[in-house]
Amino acid sequence: NKEYDYLIVGSGLFGSVFAHEANKRGKKCLVIDKREHAGGNVYCEKTEGINVHKYGPHVFHTNDENIWNYVNSFVSFNHFTCNTLANYKGDLYNLPFNMNTFYQLWESITPDEAKEKIRSQIAELDLKTPANLEEQAISLVGTDVYEKLIKGYTEKQWGRPATELPAFIIKRLPVRFNFDNNYFNDKYQGIPVGGYNKLIEGLLGTIETRLNIDYFENREELNALADQIVFTGKIDQFYNYQFGQLEYRSLRFEQETLNTDNYQGNAIINYTEREVPYTRVIEHKHFEFGTQPNTVITREYPQEWTQEKEPYYPINNTQNNQVFQKYQDLAVKETGVIFGGRLAEYRYYDMHQIIGSALAKVAAHFND
Ligand code: FAD
Repeated sequence: NKEYDYLIVGSGLFGSVFAHEANKRGKKCLVIDKREHAGGNVYCEKTEGINVHKYGPHVFHTNDENIWNYVNSFVSFNHFTCNTLANYKGDLYNLPFNMNTFYQLWESITPDEAKEKIRSQIAELDLKTPANLEEQAISLVGTDVYEKLIKGYTEKQWGRPATELPAFIIKRLPVRFNFDNNYFNDKYQGIPVGGYNKLIEGLLGTIETRLNIDYFENREELNALADQIVFTGKIDQFYNYQFGQLEYRSLRFEQETLNTDNYQGNAIINYTEREVPYTRVIEHKHFEFGTQPNTVITREYPQEWTQEKEPYYPINNTQNNQVFQKYQDLAVKETGVIFGGRLAEYRYYDMHQIIGSALAKVAAHFND
């Protein structure tokens, strides 16, 4: 018998939930992470007394009462609701598209006026089958919303003109004909009081966690330590890229401390014109209603992904999905290794989905 029952590679939400649940069932776990901190992409760093979301802004939301109760058993959540704004050439618009946005765009007072405006713009174009993302978006919301609030942002996000992006990226666009600015429709929403690190600390508790350790640099040694492995890193790397690399879109963050207590009056403001190189500005203190004398902001720039850069968003096109399927076929045959999380499953997951998937894998694994 080896020293540990489980070696958990990655201390993000997936690894932390699995470790917590295995530990609760009397199993001995060792968690490792190649970063210098635990928590994966939900990790926050304190600066000026403010929890700075180091890997992009994170708002917890779910419709699942069990998952909401689960996270609240480790930390309580505040009543933050995500209300995002768009800045287009110096004018502000509420998001997601709702009656406030339509009033700002066209001074539409009633839902009927706004609907008519959108309908006439769509009709004018007479698009039968949208051939690309641009046509798809216009066929859903008309030209004004598209030109001012979608086009530039999307082109920055993907690094390509909207006419060269496939239509399927946008299946539907949420349009509301009421004055509700709440970004999410979910029943539960909030930010952990004291930040996301509290959630991770609650999950990991006293479980042994070693940082600054890359699994692939110590693979044999680490494998020898535990009976089973929970792997939450990149699945293509696990198999030495034998079928090729899975592609991602990356991000770059520029952080700045400002000598003012309130820079933009909101946690997230999107910049939707193509000419501004970043897609959004995050003012972190607003997630927790902070009253600190200074503020910390982050400008988020999308960028091409290369092996040295953080893999943020999987590019789930046909080509990549086919490659993933080959790795997946090997993974299901693997004994003693459980694959989970966004990198091993090559899928974008929200936090509540990751927790749900970790709990489901735990239940299946322990037969409970
Ligand atoms: P990760 O958090 O990535 O954890 C994986 C861990 O494994 C990392 O710590 C990594 O360092 C470690 N690791 C990888 N390879 C190795 C290795 N070889 N050796 C050792 N360690 C390794 N979700 C929401 O619900 N709401 C939001 O508002 C939201 N906003 C987001 C914004 C952005 C910009 C992004 C990118 C994601 C957002 N998400 C949001 C999604 C959320 O971040 C994920 O659901 C969640 O963090 C995934 O957890 P994970 O454990 O799967 O992966």
